[in-house]
Amino acid sequence: MPGYPAAVADDEWDDPADGAVDPASLARRANPATIAVTAGRPEPRPGAPMTVPAWMTSTYVAGGPHAYGRNGNPTWQALEEALGQLEGGQARVFASGAAATAAVLEAVLEAALPTRPAIVVAPRGCYYATLGQFRRAAAQGRFVLREVPIADTDAAVAALDGATLLWAESPTNPLLEVADLPALVAAARARGVHTAVDNTLATPLGQRPLELGADVVVHSATKYLAGHSDLLLGATVTRDDPAGHALDTAIAEHRTLYGAVAGPQEAWLALRGLRTLAVRVERSQSNAAQLAARLATHPVVSRVRHPSLPDDPGHHRARKQLRGYGSVVSVEVHGGAVVAERVAASTRLWVHATSLGGVESTLERRRRHPGELPDVPDDLLRLSVGIEDVDDLWHDFDQALTAAQPS
Ligand SMILES: *Cc1c(COP(=O)(O)O)cnc(C)c1O
Repeated sequence: MPGYPAAVADDEWDDPADGAVDPASLARRANPATIAVTAGRPEPRPGAPMTVPAWMTSTYVAGGPHAYGRNGNPTWQALEEALGQLEGGQARVFASGAAATAAVLEAVLEAALPTRPAIVVAPRGCYYATLGQFRRAAAQGRFVLREVPIADTDAAVAALDGATLLWAESPTNPLLEVADLPALVAAARARGVHTAVDNTLATPLGQRPLELGADVVVHSATKYLAGHSDLLLGATVTRDDPAGHALDTAIAEHRTLYGAVAGPQEAWLALRGLRTLAVRVERSQSNAAQLAARLATHPVVSRVRHPSLPDDPGHHRARKQLRGYGSVVSVEVHGGAVVAERVAASTRLWVHATSLGGVESTLERRRRHPGELPDVPDDLLRLSVGIEDVDDLWHDFDQALTAAQPS
């Protein structure tokens, strides 16, 4: 696809013919781990700063490229350059992942044919606030919502008839279902259905849905992209083609008009966090797979969900589609919700907190949130595995499982 930063293997690197290295073309050819470090930097002219500063301003002196802080900010642009290169398209940053989700929904609905009611197909097990937005808008009669089990490709494809938008999330949060994304995106495209993919859990290091033909990728950059549990931020990335540009324009207009804009400080912190994305994700994924394997044989644990496990329902798809199995592990325990709550209260190193994707390991019983889906088991603990020493994580979790047992 023209202009896309194709992920290439190390041995496919071209030698620059004339010896001159243009940083932009270098980044375009680079592997994602390199893009995360290099993209969105100021031009390396003598005396230029290494990093883009946080442009803390609401307005700009007239006559330049920016007028007002709700329309644009150079720090956003640097982050958007990096995220765009990572996913292979045009990025826009938002105040949160939920704000990015809302902008995509509105932009796609605006583009829908006014002659027939819009239909949105979404995973029954997708992130609860995403489903909450969709259900709310559907209840207002704005479109018909078809909720599907996203790992069941036949059921999902059957729901695409006459649809306007397929919203996909894979792996899902927190059930870690793996959708057959290549098949779903192809089926949607063949039927003229827009496809949006929430790529928060996989990150662009794990999969790049735009390369499969998806129209737009959505991120809660709050999670792995920023990675330090110190900010909220969202992003959209649209395809680099005329249809993608039209969608991007509608998304950007939505941001400017409704004002769900990122703070410059948040954008700056997210770009700083993004620099270490590859090393953080490598380490946390490796920790997660080791812990999942150990937990699978723990007597107190009744079920472990992680695509790295050979008997996990998503294992074979994840092996084919994803680079890495992710850093979220969901665990169910004997004794139900009471014991799960006690586990969460008994850890010392793991922090009992919501959210995921930070360097710190956290856990929570998801159903303690009244908004969580009833499909999520009552005793399910979602673990967001961080980058600490894996044996320290194991010992702490093991003692918490033991301490939580009824005596
Ligand atoms: C957290 C999350 C969101 C929402 O993002 P916010 O930044 O919290 O608004 C959307 N999708 C997934 C998969 C998430 O984990």
